[in-house]
Amino acid sequence: MSEPSLTSEAVLREAAARIDSETSRLDAELLLSHVTGWSRTSFRTWPEREVPADPLARFQALLVRRVAGEPIAHLLGEQDFWSLTLAVTPDTLIPRPDTECLVEVALELPLPAEARVMDLGTGTGAIALALAKERPQWRVSACDAVPDAVALARHNAQRLGLPVQVEASHWFDDLPAQRFDLIVSNPPYIAADDRHLAEGDVRFEPATALVSGADGLDDLRQIVTQAPDWLDEGGWLLVEHGYDQATAVQALFRQAGFWAVQSRQDYGGQDRLTLGQFHRRERRDASC
Ligand code: GLN
Repeated sequence: MSEPSLTSEAVLREAAARIDSETSRLDAELLLSHVTGWSRTSFRTWPEREVPADPLARFQALLVRRVAGEPIAHLLGEQDFWSLTLAVTPDTLIPRPDTECLVEVALELPLPAEARVMDLGTGTGAIALALAKERPQWRVSACDAVPDAVALARHNAQRLGLPVQVEASHWFDDLPAQRFDLIVSNPPYIAADDRHLAEGDVRFEPATALVSGADGLDDLRQIVTQAPDWLDEGGWLLVEHGYDQATAVQALFRQAGFWAVQSRQDYGGQDRLTLGQFHRRERRDASC
């Protein structure tokens, strides 16, 4: 006698019970949709549909990895960010919804129509690609120190048909001399001894994309200190950082000569972005 077939609802219910995540049902639906090609809506409208043996076996293999903690984005090989679906590998940070706030703030800045923009440490290319999608007139470049990340960001740009130039460079170190109107970055900013590094998705992401010295600020210090050499008069620097780093990052901006230094909140209401405008000289009133 053959095994009794399993309906999609039975498969999902059992899987959701095994996954230890706040989004266990969603995770199960995403994995089942991935192996069957069926929409998530269909799991609700046609719950008694039987899952064939082949996709079921592939689902079970992915489920074992999810139960062991592997991020959904790694199992699916992709992650949605802004209006884009990005290819994702274990070589880079998985794009986070909170980083969409950085994109929103960048789009509100008073910039030239053909702004020159650099995304430092682009990873999948998420920020640069979202900006290029929204502002076709901007000249958006990106860089990353990790060769596999450069390849992945280029692959995403090509797949999405977006004209983002991706260079291999550790922050500004290997870039040809040039000036930008806007520099953005979501650098590593977690302190080396942070206990969150032992929990959840970050266990499967590269430390180079997450950890930055004893206080988490090593990379931000370098970026903020060097950015003035790469910004045009009136250009902007906009960075993401940890929820408790806004004061320290604002101080770095002011020391480096930035004006209009301010922080903005993420979707959780935490100060997670800091920005400032660079002026070479102190601005003087024309009448003085
Ligand atoms: N926001 C990420 C996290 O806390 C870290 C991202 C980063 O270091 N740039 O998981």
